[in-house]
Amino acid sequence: MSDAETLFERIIAGEIPSEKVYEDETTYAFRDIAPQARVHVLVVPKKRYRNLADLASADPQLLADVAAAAKKVAELEGIAETGYRVVFNTDRDAGQTVFHVHAHVLGGEQLGHFGR
Ligand code: C5P
Repeated sequence: MSDAETLFERIIAGEIPSEKVYEDETTYAFRDIAPQARVHVLVVPKKRYRNLADLASADPQLLADVAAAAKKVAELEGIAETGYRVVFNTDRDAGQTVFHVHAHVLGGEQLGHFGR
């Protein structure tokens, strides 16, 4: 297993420091080290799947837990009312770099339109 595959497991285990925003039984959320917006938090299921497609197929309840955690993060960060974006980069063309599925929760400012 490469470093990229184990990175978030090591963060969840506390072996690599992170700025935790929220945690429950099945998910862990922390600030992205290279924020792309004023609020940029990653929500990671504690059990590792490669990407959103694998997670959705294998464990829909866990996907629902990730969505609920993203909502909780938005509330904790004070962006639930102003709005926010939830992104799952999936594989090559989306530029996924860590192959442990994670939701990016982005907000706290007006976001640019996405795409190319
Ligand atoms: O969607 P993608 O796989 O590219 O997202 C990985 C994210 O993990 C990046 O936004 C990167 O900044 C973040 N990261 C982090 N802490 C690390 C390594 C990567 O927050 N130690």
